Amino acid sequence: MTIARGRTRTDTDTSASLPSDVRAHNLAFALRTLHAAGPMSRADLSRAIGLTRVTISDLVTELIARGHAVELGISSAVRPGKPAILVDINRHGLQIVGLDLTENDVLRAAVMDLDGRILAQADRAIADEKGAELAQIVIELTHHGVTLATAPLLGIGVGTPGIVNAEGTVLTAPNLGWENLPLGDMIEDATGLPTQVHNDADAAVHGEYTFGGGTDDMILVRVGRGVGSSLMVGGVRARGVHSAAGEIGHLTVGTDGGLLCSCGRYGCLETWLAVPALERALAKVASAPDPSAAAEAVFHKAGERLAVALAPIVAAIDLAEIVLCGPPHLINETFLESVRETLAQRVLPLLPPPTAVRLADEPQNTVLRGTVVMVLSSQLGVD
Ligand SMILES: [Zn+2]
Repeated sequence: MTIARGRTRTDTDTSASLPSDVRAHNLAFALRTLHAAGPMSRADLSRAIGLTRVTISDLVTELIARGHAVELGISSAVRPGKPAILVDINRHGLQIVGLDLTENDVLRAAVMDLDGRILAQADRAIADEKGAELAQIVIELTHHGVTLATAPLLGIGVGTPGIVNAEGTVLTAPNLGWENLPLGDMIEDATGLPTQVHNDADAAVHGEYTFGGGTDDMILVRVGRGVGSSLMVGGVRARGVHSAAGEIGHLTVGTDGGLLCSCGRYGCLETWLAVPALERALAKVASAPDPSAAAEAVFHKAGERLAVALAPIVAAIDLAEIVLCGPPHLINETFLESVRETLAQRVLPLLPPPTAVRLADEPQNTVLRGTVVMVLSSQLGVD
């Protein structure tokens, strides 16, 4: 079976597969190749993925009939023989509605193309709504997002705080007052569109991996109402036995006490660097003799605590990079530098390159772009 050549991330044993499975796999593989590499001729696609020209032509015909691929015109490349028609994934003719439920005071919805570019946005301010009331606001915002689409929608993606199972049920999201909330089903029932619900950091790590130059071995840390992270190990996202891999917000950092956390314990990571905690700490030092130096000290301390929590993870998995995203006025260069310094003090200095610490490519949109990857993956087999 000549399938798995080139850029593939999952090993699929096709020897026992049904022909229809093989076909679905090949269709997804062709789309994935086009999505990553851009427009190419059928001949180049055939070379790129190691299938015959006849098979590729047949697959492309089906993808075009489904509206998932398009012909773009003649290649300008100078080559012997007859000029080739370029084909591409239908990146501008299909759209996705994404929702980011992670910010402190606003819920965000966006219409995006298949490259994760934001075409239209709708925001909904929130105060302290929780539980069923908040779920209803999310449904209304989804409807609003759907009305802004200007092309057929491939689906809806949601990035939410909390632990989410594979069926799109939010098992627990204490900050939102949700427990066993079947959010995916609720949105599907309300809109009739296929819906993917994922933990915000999990969505974000996929967004960064696909659109932001993320590497195969990275941890992405999101600082918002809480603190979450997601791990990519060898190009595969770690899920964990409870779908809770990367839930670092309630790690106790240090043995020196700290502030009371919403979970009832003291000194959790979230009490040092979630957005509300940082904002409280900054408000406290606003009237200090030198407020800007005092603010720097707050960021420095927060970065230090984060690095203390991350050092054993970095060492255990030998990560290439730590990617941070959060509000730019909080997750700033002082914060990053403090993470770098503390990490360097706490892990064995290995061969270069050392673990890089950087901001996400578009920190404000990482979750939204991640929802595009989740929908592409579930609807087209593209990731
Ligand atoms: Zn806690």
